[in-house]
Formats: sequence, C-alpha cells, structure tokens
Amino acid sequence: MREAASAGERAWLAEFAVDDERWRKFEVYYERLVAWNQQLNLTSITERREVFIKHFADSLAVVRLPEWRFVVHAPGAGVMDVGTGAGFPGLPLAICHPDIPFVLADAQAKRLRFLADVVAALGLHNVRLVHGRAEDLARDPAMRGRFAAVTARAVARLNVLLELTVPFCRVGGFVFAYKGPGVEEELAEGERAAGVLGAKLARIVPWELPEGMGSRRMVVTVQERPVPAKYPRKAGTPQRAPLG
Ligand code: SAM
Repeated sequence: MREAASAGERAWLAEFAVDDERWRKFEVYYERLVAWNQQLNLTSITERREVFIKHFADSLAVVRLPEWRFVVHAPGAGVMDVGTGAGFPGLPLAICHPDIPFVLADAQAKRLRFLADVVAALGLHNVRLVHGRAEDLARDPAMRGRFAAVTARAVARLNVLLELTVPFCRVGGFVFAYKGPGVEEELAEGERAAGVLGAKLARIVPWELPEGMGSRRMVVTVQERPVPAKYPRKAGTPQRAPLG
C-alpha cells in the first residue's frame, strides 16, 4: 500500500526532476513535519497526500516559469524566502536546487528550530536560516538588494507583501508571490505599491494543483530600480499603513 501511494506522490513531483536522492529528502521532510507538528503548530495539513500536493508540489510550481531559469543561471544567484514558516516554498526549492544558496527567514523562532532540525537531517549545505522580521532584515546590507529571487507564500496582502519582499531583490531580479484566485482583488493596490518600490507587476500565472486540490496564482514582479532608502518602513508599519 505504502509503495503504491509513494509512486503516486512521486509522479506529482517527477516533473521537477526529483531523483531518488531528492525523493528520500522529501520523505524525511514529511516525517519530521508531522512529528514536530505534534508539539508546534506548523501546519493544519498533515495527511500525506495533501502535504505532497499542497505543500511540496505547490512550493515547486515556480520551477516551471521561464523567469526561474534566470534565477538558476544568474551568477551568484541566491533566493530569499520571506515568512518561510515550516519551509514553504523555500525548502522544497532548496532540495531541488542544491547549487543555489537559499536564505529562509521568519519572525518566529520556534519555526526556525524546526527548520534547523530538518535542514540538518537532510544534510543541506545551501540553506541559511535567519530569524527576524523582514522589515528589519532588509536593512542589513548583506541582504538588501542582493537576491536574484525572493519568494513568499501566505504572508500578507500583496501591497504589504511587496514592501516586505522587494527590498531584498537585486535590480533585474524577481519576486514570486504565491497566491490564490482572490489575488485579483489585490492587484490594483499591489501595482501601486510596486511602483513606489521601483518594481513592476510583470504577470500573473494561473495553475491548478493536482487532484483538484485548488487553483493558484503566481504574481511575478520584476525589480526595475533600486528601492528608495525609506523602504521598508519600520516593523509593523507596512501592515498598519499599507502602500498603494
Ligand atoms: N510561507 C509559509 C507557508 O506558506 O506555509 C508560512 C505561512 S504562515 C501563514 C506566515 C509566516 O510568515 C509565519 O511563519 C510568520 O511568522 C511569518 N511572517 C509574517 N510576517 C512576517 C514579517 N514581517 N517578517 C518575517 N516573517 C513574517
């Protein structure tokens, strides 16, 4: 039974070049997620099939986009995942791209303790975990304007999210915001916020999760100019007084 289930789950990840070694890493990730979830509130999704589709396959969706190829081939490429939580989408992407350095950032220390355990168990050398709020971390010259790509899923409304993510992005790089169909309502204010930050909403890519598990939208933003020095504003302000 377990083998048959496993074959189905492998098929969903197959298009992302998940070989045997990477597959074992996803198995370990799943086991640790469920084990830690008994103590920490990491995810409401724990059923195996759902985790593989709604967390792992969903996280890897960006790999299909041509803009991602720019990230993979950019010299000194690096990816920042803002508000990574239990590692989504950053950790599945780091498993599939061992040559790209990833920074996974979150404001909650307990989530980073879980991630430190998983990253050690997986033997990943391309992942750095950073504790802090994006508004503060983006003031660090080692992180501001440095990354070829910034990812974020389920962190904030688009206009708020852009202030939390765009400042990490280098000029010419991309922000990939993982959203649902409801994002349509956020686009007008998101577009205005992007303009203030020197960025532009490039396109919205719709896709469907396998097995009818939901519709998704990827909002692709390109960084056109350096972000004005006053952004992001101090921690809490982007949420209280959103741009756009
Ligand atoms: N991205 C993960 C996912 O899709 O499963 C986690 C989503 S969870 C709903 C939102 C996460 O964003 C939380 O772990 C929270 O601590 C983090 N977060 C929210 N605002 C943040 C900020 N300003 N800076 C850093 N992390 C933040």
